[in-house]
Amino acid sequence: MYKKKRLSFKGGIHPPYSKELTKSISLEYALSPKVVYIPLQQHIGAPCEPIVKVGDRVKIGQKIGEAKTFVSVPVHSSVAGIVKKITPLPTPTGSKVMTVIIESDGSNEIYEGIKPKGELSNLTSKEIIEIIKEAGITGMGGAAFPTHVKLSPPPEKKIDTIILNGSECEPYLTADHRLMVEYPEKVVFGLEVIMKAVNANKGIIGIEDNKPDAIENIRSIVAKKPNIELAVLETKYPQGGEKRLIDAITGRKVPAGALPMDVGVIVNNVGTAAAIADAIQKGMPLIERIVTVTGNGIVQPSNLIVKIGTLFKEIIEQCGGYSGEPGKIISGGPMMGFAQYTDEVPVIKGTSGILVLKQKDAYSEVEQPCIKCARCVDVCPVGLLPIKIANYSQKSKWDEAEAYSALYCIECGSCSFICPAKRPLVQRIRLAKGEILAKKRNK
Ligand code: SF4
Ligand code: SF4
Repeated sequence: MYKKKRLSFKGGIHPPYSKELTKSISLEYALSPKVVYIPLQQHIGAPCEPIVKVGDRVKIGQKIGEAKTFVSVPVHSSVAGIVKKITPLPTPTGSKVMTVIIESDGSNEIYEGIKPKGELSNLTSKEIIEIIKEAGITGMGGAAFPTHVKLSPPPEKKIDTIILNGSECEPYLTADHRLMVEYPEKVVFGLEVIMKAVNANKGIIGIEDNKPDAIENIRSIVAKKPNIELAVLETKYPQGGEKRLIDAITGRKVPAGALPMDVGVIVNNVGTAAAIADAIQKGMPLIERIVTVTGNGIVQPSNLIVKIGTLFKEIIEQCGGYSGEPGKIISGGPMMGFAQYTDEVPVIKGTSGILVLKQKDAYSEVEQPCIKCARCVDVCPVGLLPIKIANYSQKSKWDEAEAYSALYCIECGSCSFICPAKRPLVQRIRLAKGEILAKKRNK
């Protein structure tokens, strides 16, 4: 089925999308790296514990880190080779994490336990969720929350709708776009798996209207599926935020402090659905992902399928290298991504893009006094007063910042983007959130 109306939400912004650099470039496999650096924590939750030691030989898809708690996922080797070292190293999120360094032997030998899981109709909900957990699948849109946890709501929370987020509203990124253009069947099959896992009778794939080819390819498949719909969304940032998406597509409002499951919905990224499809159809855990390598600081912008653990610098070299001195390297997109101080960090499960900007574009303008225009208030999709919270944060008044609902900020950056005075609002709100949460933990 095909929902024709263009859907949207209140607030939001229209930044320059800059997707023309890569939106028509087909997916290609990146060269297989000689060495991979696989962090034992690439997700929200507890880190894994290593189950290999230096000198061990591992194969592609073999588990190398075990999850010891429910909110955690295992990690697997993306190459066949020898474990050289296990040591703390920086990751693109800014934290140092225990990392397994594996030197590839070039054999590409696949672990013998990797086998298709059979027909979906023969799998129970419990078996599907266990397969997803064992495959180490996390949200692929950036936050990297363990997917099996998301798909395990308490029994009293009945889920009737699964939404796949194909909006990819973050500027520059085209990884999800190319996935939907080139592998639409995989995305739709992944959605069917998720629906079966939580016994939901409806699936909806939301795509922004700046991706007509993806809309067309997904539409041709869901047209034959009576329980799956396509929802075309207005191109607006942050359309892909979970609560905004649910509101735009279903009209259901997720109250502040509540979760999508409280209104009967679970949202997953289209990349997550594709990873789930691979886990069922091939038995392959999450060992590679699509990365958009883009920006005017890259010679040859591309959409690459990259093995987890490959260093950014190797990927950048394969894309022709830097076009001049890089001004800024970002993991992810310009709105919610993480600025990097080195290109010697590995691609992890949440790495949707590598964005390199030239120095002139990375320049941040000098902050001016607030002119009380209220544009930051108008664009906030959560309905917050960003200037109030940021001002309290600047004065270290954390209780007041909390009273103005700082913790509900989704850090979309719309307020900072729109501010004519170039005030670093989201940075100050992020600081306030960190201080409020630290205070709560120490109580
Ligand atoms: S206050 Fe938070 S949620 Fe609102 S626009 Fe700013 S960053 Fe986005
Ligand atoms: S957008 Fe900037 S200048 Fe306008 S009210 Fe907000 S902080 Fe002040």
